Amino acid sequence: MIISSSKPFDEVLASLEGIDNIFVVGCNVCAARLHVGGEPEVLAMCEKLKEAGKHVVGWVLPTAACSIQSYAMLVEKKPDIREADAILVMACGSGTSVVSRLAGVPVYPSNNTDSLGGRSGEQVLPQLCEMCGACNVQEFGGVCPKASCPKGLLNGPCGGSMSGKCEVDSEKDCAWELIYKQLEKTDRLELLEKVFEPRKYSR
Ligand code: SF4
Ligand code: SF4
Repeated sequence: MIISSSKPFDEVLASLEGIDNIFVVGCNVCAARLHVGGEPEVLAMCEKLKEAGKHVVGWVLPTAACSIQSYAMLVEKKPDIREADAILVMACGSGTSVVSRLAGVPVYPSNNTDSLGGRSGEQVLPQLCEMCGACNVQEFGGVCPKASCPKGLLNGPCGGSMSGKCEVDSEKDCAWELIYKQLEKTDRLELLEKVFEPRKYSR
């Protein structure tokens, strides 16, 4: 799941300065599950845009904004899109990029893409993977320090955590504390002895 969050409305409005006719595209997968691009959020965005003096020509909620087959399909579903001077995409950067490639008008994002994460029940799990191209998350009990430790430490904690929280972001659990607990739970604490080479960013 791609974790994205809503930009402040003032920022979205500023990016649309001078544009009157706007079509809104949501995303019924990640953004909907995160409540930043599903139907309720798309409808709320349309209302806010109207209140701000914009003409909303229509909206659509594709299954996934990042997997739209063709512009023709969007037009078939919502012919009003042809009247748009710009499209606002309420999805991650992938969704905005796909719509940008298909549309013949400028496309703007209403969301910021934060990380590659996941979800368990109602709990959103951000920053699970950084797409390094050389996955060895099994060495860390399934808690990837490349993605979850702000310092990207591969060989143990920095020593700055307080009560299990990260010294860089006290809202966050220390990744290495989680790694330790995971390895302890699965009886693989010996993996802590392993020394890892610096990460290859060429991948
Ligand atoms: S090692 Fe970490 S960043 Fe790399 S692919 Fe696996 S989970 Fe993602
Ligand atoms: S406190 Fe933990 S998660 Fe934060 S930077 Fe140090 S090792 Fe990484």
